[in-house]
Amino acid sequence: MGLFLLIFTSTFLGVCAATLQQNPQERFSGSDRRDTGNDIFSDILSSNQGSSRFMLQGDIAVKRNRNALVCRGKSCLWPKSGDGLVRVPYTLSNNYTSEEKEIIQAAMEEVTVLTCIRFIPRHGEPDYLRIQPHAGCWSYIGRVGGAQDLSLMKTGCLHWGIIQHELLHALGFQHEQCRSDRDKYIRINWGNINQDKERNFYKMSTQNLGVPYDYLSVLHYGKFAFANDAGKPTLEPTGDPQAVIGQRVGLSSVDVVKINKLFQCNVCSYLLPDARGTFSWESKQRPNISTCVWLIRVPEDKVFLQFESFSVQSSPACAQGSVTVYDGMSTKSPILLQKTCGNVRPLGQVASGKLVRIELASRGTGINFKAIYNSIQCGRTLTRTTGNFSTPGFPGKYPNSANCVWILSAPAGNKITLHVAPFSLESSLNCSYDYFLLRDGQRQMKRCGIVRVLDFISTTRSLVVYFHSDSSVQENGFFATYSFAPIS
Ligand SMILES: [Zn+2]
Repeated sequence: MGLFLLIFTSTFLGVCAATLQQNPQERFSGSDRRDTGNDIFSDILSSNQGSSRFMLQGDIAVKRNRNALVCRGKSCLWPKSGDGLVRVPYTLSNNYTSEEKEIIQAAMEEVTVLTCIRFIPRHGEPDYLRIQPHAGCWSYIGRVGGAQDLSLMKTGCLHWGIIQHELLHALGFQHEQCRSDRDKYIRINWGNINQDKERNFYKMSTQNLGVPYDYLSVLHYGKFAFANDAGKPTLEPTGDPQAVIGQRVGLSSVDVVKINKLFQCNVCSYLLPDARGTFSWESKQRPNISTCVWLIRVPEDKVFLQFESFSVQSSPACAQGSVTVYDGMSTKSPILLQKTCGNVRPLGQVASGKLVRIELASRGTGINFKAIYNSIQCGRTLTRTTGNFSTPGFPGKYPNSANCVWILSAPAGNKITLHVAPFSLESSLNCSYDYFLLRDGQRQMKRCGIVRVLDFISTTRSLVVYFHSDSSVQENGFFATYSFAPIS
């Protein structure tokens, strides 16, 4: 506890970062395509312009008789229960619509999925977050005691990253660029900062818990925060001036590590926030871990996940170990891959949106897998007996630079009949520009140009269809129908 107190008697990590997305799969997938060109913190500042409240560093609320930036003792920490969970009670103003409440709760849920923090609706607890649509987006630092307001104005604050930025303040985190070690990573251009805003950039005496400085933290200011001239950066990453600081989506993978370290959460979790990546597990190296969660959150479009290798010791009902894949971030989301064990590499999975949860349960050491994911613009996993799919915009022209994957997955003992017509893709030698690619086990077929009809019967119970378009020449694409039928 010594280290813990020390951390909190000084201040914790901090930074101000970028913008974000919204709620469950559907909402996360589309409606928040706002792109102001700003990082998250710039959006917070512009939302706070109308607020008459005095705030430190742009969005940190201050209580009288208290240094808002320095927590004394563990009173600033939300307490941990005997079950290892840190419950943070909250209320949501009834001025929010149910849809707005869902957006806030989804941003909370991502924190919950990856850490031991649980935001819970308040049931009489004396200390709680009172989330209200006041003017601006702001929060106190850490637990203040009693009802503590956290403001998320309806216009400008109800975005995944902004909500998480303020929630992290309420958990006790400072802006990242205030870290004691920040001078090794960023340069403050004092000449570009409004004089009365200089204190927003003062360095603080923070304990950094061995967590690396994180340009991409949801708590990092953007390059132009508090600039006296919009074109002149106030903060610049040293070493690589082109490095992005602040980001636009939400928690960074290091933010997750920070939360788990600060609250000493006993969880195994990984956030995978990039457009593509790999992850793996070797249970021999971590024999004491019984559950682990990976949350893929691609910045846009939808997730395509494939296992490159898969070996999970077989057991009845997969009780000794299993991998489950969800189409969303929670265990209540639809299942993409049922609890699986054994040595058969599962079929690829196409999610309906940007979020996929992979859950590992282990009671032994016989689990090894490696998976790869990337974001694709279109496609889906098809498990109904009959159906159809087509290139985006069909019968109109398909877009440039698209990648789609359709996975047709029939029950065991079935084959798949596929009929494609019409079919019109850019023509090229070896179909090296735009193409349609079909995989049936080891068999593969690539087509482009104009094909009158394409009929295919699978030899296995699954087919994978890829569509790729390059950066020029658009045609009308294809329309495909399929059906599953038992092998007679
Ligand atoms: Zn902030």
